[in-house]
Amino acid sequence: MKIVADLHIHTVASGHAYSTILENVTVAAEKGLEMIAITDHGPDMPGGPHAYHFGNLKAVPSELFGVRILKGVEANVIDHEGNLDLAEDRLASLEIVLAGLHTVCSPNGSVAENTQMMVNAMKNPWVDAIVHPGNPEYLVDAETIVKAAVEYDVALEINNSSLKVSRIGSKPYCEKIAALSKQYGAKIILGTDSHFALAIGDFSQAIEILEKYDISSDLVINTSVESVLRHLNRRSNRKSSVN
Ligand SMILES: [Zn+2]
Ligand SMILES: [Zn+2]
Repeated sequence: MKIVADLHIHTVASGHAYSTILENVTVAAEKGLEMIAITDHGPDMPGGPHAYHFGNLKAVPSELFGVRILKGVEANVIDHEGNLDLAEDRLASLEIVLAGLHTVCSPNGSVAENTQMMVNAMKNPWVDAIVHPGNPEYLVDAETIVKAAVEYDVALEINNSSLKVSRIGSKPYCEKIAALSKQYGAKIILGTDSHFALAIGDFSQAIEILEKYDISSDLVINTSVESVLRHLNRRSNRKSSVN
C-alpha cells in the first residue's frame, strides 16, 4: 500500500517536539511524500501553543519542495461533553482538525464515559479524525466508536507512534479498531505522530496491522492526495455552522 500523506506531525510549537516546519517538510520531500499536515497540540497541552498560533498559520506556505502542507491542529478533548481546547472560529480556519484524548487535558473515566466522550468529540462538525483511539490509557468500547465514526463520517487513526514509542500496550486495541473498521466500513487515517522530523513517513507498524486484517487501500484516506481532500471537503455545512 502506497501512503502519500503523513497527516499527524508536530513541531517545536507543541513544546515537547523537536523539529521545525521547514525541517519536517524537508524530510517529507526527501521521503517522497506528496502531502503533510502540521498538527501541533491545542493550547491546553502543557507547553503547547497559544490559540494565536493557529490564527497565523497563513504565514506558512501551502506548498514547499513539492509537498502540500495542510495547516491543522491536534486538539485536546477537554470534558465529557467532547468539547475541544480551540474555539470554533479557529477550528474553522484550519484545513485539518484531529482530536484526541490526552492525559492532563482529558478527564479519564469508565469505559462507558470515555466512549461517550470520544463519540461526543466526533459530533463536532470540524473534527476530521480521532487520533490514537486505541490508547489503553483511555479504554473505550471499540464497536461503539467505529459505528459512530461511520455515522459522523470521521476517520479513525492508526497511530504508528502508538505501536513504537508511545502509549505502550496500544497494539491489541488498534488491531480491534482496524478489524471493526473493515467490518463496518469506517475510514482509516494513518499518522506517524512525529515529534522529530526523521519519524515522518514511517508507517511500517501501522501497515503491518492493515495487512494482517487485509484492509484495502480504499478505506485508508492517506493513499492519495485526492482521497485526503475528499475527506476534508466532505462537510458542506461547516461554513453555515460558524457564520
Ligand atoms: Zn496525541
Ligand atoms: Zn500527536
